[in-house]
Amino acid sequence: MHDTYKHKGLRKQLIESLRQKNISDERVLSAMEKIPRHFFLDSSFLEFAYQDKPFPIGSGQTISQPYTVAFQTELLQVEKGQKVLEIGTGSAYQACVLAEMGAKVYSIERQRKLYLKTKSFVEQKLPYKLNLFLADGNEGLPSYAPFDRILITAAAPEIPQPLIDQLKIGGIMVIPLGAGNTQNMLRITKTAVDKTEQEMHGAFRFVPLLGMIGND
Ligand code: SAH
Repeated sequence: MHDTYKHKGLRKQLIESLRQKNISDERVLSAMEKIPRHFFLDSSFLEFAYQDKPFPIGSGQTISQPYTVAFQTELLQVEKGQKVLEIGTGSAYQACVLAEMGAKVYSIERQRKLYLKTKSFVEQKLPYKLNLFLADGNEGLPSYAPFDRILITAAAPEIPQPLIDQLKIGGIMVIPLGAGNTQNMLRITKTAVDKTEQEMHGAFRFVPLLGMIGND
């Protein structure tokens, strides 16, 4: 896989368009400017890699729209060295953005085929060390908890309590909440063992978070 001047130029334009849509965290923008998003799409779709659109990645799933990735990452306020748990590895593009920003990334995928494909892709083609897991993200990763940050990249009908439990006090969770056609982007800050504060950040559209049963 090659990252040519042409790709870099297209990426610069994409970053410019994210700026115009009010993404302002330079750390997020520069991470996204570095990562060759076209590596994450099948080669026959290369020309779509730098449009601000979601894209199918197989198993009925999508790589999130660049704007959505940027928006969620900005809300998450990730600092270097933090432990970040992502639910919904998908293509691992979002996970790589977090890793590029210096986070220690733990990411869970529910679908076996996608997990295996993404895991070998990341290990063979990318310089990032990601900790990838095949599991139900609703349960989090109790043996690796607590986390500084938790990011959910699929539509959650409710806030999974295990994930709140696995968040550090002072930690932040970003979660698209809602079972219908659109979700509300929620930022949750855990202020004490049994206390959270929530802010709403607008409507988005995600593929649903899957439950325990099926989909293998
Ligand atoms: N973050 C991804 C896009 C995620 S799309 C990227 O950057 O490409 C949502 C992903 O969540 C899909 O891959 C889907 O299979 C996965 N998913 C759905 N339900 C899940 C669950 N319960 N646990 C973990 N992953 C889940």
